[in-house]
Amino acid sequence: MRVATWRGGTEITIDEVPTPKAGPSELVMKVLSSGICGTDIHKTQGLFPATPPDILGHEFVGPVVEVGDGVDESLIGKMIACTLNAACGECQGCLTWSAMHCERNKRYSGGFAEYVLVDHRQAHIVPDGLDHGTASMAEPLACVLSTLNMIDVEEGCDALVVGGGLLGLLTVGVLKLRGVGRIILSEPNTQRLGMGTQFGADILNDPTKDDLAELVNDFTGGYGVKIGAEAVGVPQLVANVSKMIRPRGNLVLVGVSPQGSSLPVDLYDLHYKEITMSGAFGAGDAFGEALETLPKLNLEGIVSGRFPLEKTAEALQVSAAGGGVKYMIAPHEQV
Ligand SMILES: [Zn+2]
Ligand SMILES: [Zn+2]
Repeated sequence: MRVATWRGGTEITIDEVPTPKAGPSELVMKVLSSGICGTDIHKTQGLFPATPPDILGHEFVGPVVEVGDGVDESLIGKMIACTLNAACGECQGCLTWSAMHCERNKRYSGGFAEYVLVDHRQAHIVPDGLDHGTASMAEPLACVLSTLNMIDVEEGCDALVVGGGLLGLLTVGVLKLRGVGRIILSEPNTQRLGMGTQFGADILNDPTKDDLAELVNDFTGGYGVKIGAEAVGVPQLVANVSKMIRPRGNLVLVGVSPQGSSLPVDLYDLHYKEITMSGAFGAGDAFGEALETLPKLNLEGIVSGRFPLEKTAEALQVSAAGGGVKYMIAPHEQV
């Protein structure tokens, strides 16, 4: 089979490797859609810890083609979506924190490949009626759900989401589903910003044209929003959002800031305003919930492009350029 191997920096090679065989408790999936995530791009930019050579991509969906010993044979032919890691469900990490903290996690290679090998515990059956492209967004949606599951969403409260990439838009959508009253979305890319409306944003802010702090101030009678989410991963933006939150509000980290970064805020303000800051690590335990939630969101127009495996390097570049919203690798399509 063919795989796209990341060689460090932005270099990707297309290589022929043996198609994986399913061992005990494993299965092999034919990859139909594999989403390009911000962390894949950050790896090629040195902003997220990773060591080449590696096959990137962790948002993959497709049918099961082979199962190993101990795995239900009726899974063959079923469309599945996979979580990033196989949680054992028995260790301290799994029992006390979340699947993402499993201490016995075996790391498999990624989804920019024609086939992937996974542990059967990573597999979730895709509900009928959900196409593979949409279902591959279960992983990013699970990250958003896991993040928002950590906070108390007051019915009818105000919220601010900074960043209108996929995670920002999904954050708007989930907040709306959970009963948030008015939501402000701030994003400089007009195409992304315009999509905020279909997810339930009430006010759209282009920060290059209108001052966001002033807008939040007017909108909330000077108090600030209950929930302020940063969905970009830029420490200065997190700091800015923290200043627009009302007392006893929540500062929510949806975006992943670079390793080694720090938050440029006056801690006195956070303390004085009794702000709670939280962020979730990956999909947590929310993957199943994400597959159930996807049909409740209007994802029309979210997929900006599908690329064949040979064009993985180009797809990563296009995705990194910041136009559009979500790009996918389609290893079995001649796109
Ligand atoms: Zn991802
Ligand atoms: Zn575990």
